[in-house]
Amino acid sequence: MKIVDGVYQVEGVNCNVYLVENGDKLTLIDTGLPRSDKKILKTIEALGHKPEDVTTIIITHFHIDHVGGLKKMKAQTNAKVAVHEADSDFVAGTKSPPKPKNLMLKALTTIVKSAPVEPDLRLKDGDKIAGLLVIHTPGHSDGSISLLDEKRKVMFVGDAVRFLDGKLQGPPERFTLDMTKAKDSIKKLSDLEFDVMVAGHGQTLMPEASKKLKDFAAQQ
Ligand SMILES: [Zn+2]
Ligand SMILES: [Zn+2]
Repeated sequence: MKIVDGVYQVEGVNCNVYLVENGDKLTLIDTGLPRSDKKILKTIEALGHKPEDVTTIIITHFHIDHVGGLKKMKAQTNAKVAVHEADSDFVAGTKSPPKPKNLMLKALTTIVKSAPVEPDLRLKDGDKIAGLLVIHTPGHSDGSISLLDEKRKVMFVGDAVRFLDGKLQGPPERFTLDMTKAKDSIKKLSDLEFDVMVAGHGQTLMPEASKKLKDFAAQQ
């Protein structure tokens, strides 16, 4: 499904997974739950590309619904894997995330260890990767990031904020490490300029997405 020219959403996977054209190459943003690889590969083909055209895979944060397909997609594409430095060890499986009190979150963070992938790049706020600006938006997890395509005015927010049932919402509390930080991150995002907001869950918000997010942040 086309979001705007050069930005596509893979259908039928959870979380929302995006493919972004970068010249004649592709960037994959998140990889869905385990077994999402077949649907992602199908979409790559439908766009007229080969798997090896995917040269970069960016993970917005370490949760299983975002990294589940990572190991297989890395093997299929040989792409470089990029994760924020604060979530990298959890994706690599070399460290366990901070012990969540919440059982659901505990379950999520336990399963993720089953398919570790060592990130090739450990990202920081302000980095540029595959034409996308990295914005550190902690709260949902310590290493949650958003990605801004400045040319297309599209913001990929991961699970930092969602547009669901016609309204903007913060991240789900039971899966979120620090709600105060999460609110600060929404404010940080709303200070940037973009027309389209795409998230890990829910629907696309457009047009005037940053203006709408600013109104939402003011109510928080
Ligand atoms: Zn998440
Ligand atoms: Zn998610």
